[in-house]
Amino acid sequence: MTYVVALTGGIGSGKSTVAKLFCSLGAGLIDTDDIAHRLTQPNGQAIEPIRTTFGSHYIDQHGAMARDVMRHLIFADPSAKQRLEQILHPLIHEQVLMMLKQSQHAYTLLAVPLLVETGTYLKIANRVLVIDCGEAVQIARVMTRSGLNESEARAIMAKQAPRETRLAFADDVINNNGTAETLYPQVVALDKVYNELSSKIN
Ligand code: ADP
Repeated sequence: MTYVVALTGGIGSGKSTVAKLFCSLGAGLIDTDDIAHRLTQPNGQAIEPIRTTFGSHYIDQHGAMARDVMRHLIFADPSAKQRLEQILHPLIHEQVLMMLKQSQHAYTLLAVPLLVETGTYLKIANRVLVIDCGEAVQIARVMTRSGLNESEARAIMAKQAPRETRLAFADDVINNNGTAETLYPQVVALDKVYNELSSKIN
C-alpha cells in the first residue's frame, strides 16, 4: 500500500511547482484537479450526469463540459455549484481510491487544493503537507500567472481557508516565500522522511 501524503496550499502557493520536484525524485502524484478535468472531457464519466442535470447547453460541440457557460451559471447561482459538486465529488473520490490502490510508488502525493475546507481526504491521508507563503507573495504570483488583478486574486483567496487554519492541519510545511531554488532542499529532506515512513507501513 502506498503511503499517502496530502498536498495542499492556497491558490498560487506553489503546489504544482513542489509536486513536480517530488515527482522528479520518484514520488507518485494524484491531482484531484486533473481528475476533475478528465471527468469533464469528452466521454468523461461526468458528462452524461451533467447533461441530465443541467441540459445539453452545458456540453460543447466536442462533448466536453462547456466550461465558460458552466462558470457563468455557477457564478450566478450557488445551488448550481452544489449540484455540479454533487456530480463530481463522488466520481473524483472513486478515482482517487482506485489510483491509490494501483500506485506502485513508496509514497504518493495527493494534491487537494481544498483539503482542509472539505475534509474528505484528511481521512485517507497518512500525512498532510502544506505549501505556505505570505499573502503578498501569493497575490503577486497569482496575478503574474493568471493575469488577474489584485481584487480578483483576493476574491479567490477569500473563498479558501485562511493561512492559519490550513497550517493548523499541517504535519509538514514547505516555506515558499523565497526563490524557486529554495524549494529543492526542502523537498529532498521531506522525500527522505516520506520514504522512511512508507517503509514502516509496508
Ligand atoms: P499552485 O499550484 O499552488 O496554484 P504554482 O506551483 O502553479 O501554484 O505556482 C504559482 C505561480 O508562481 C506559478 O507561475 C509558479 O511558476 C510561480 N512560483 C511558484 N513558486 C515560486 C517561487 N518560489 N519563486 C517564483 N515563482 C514561483
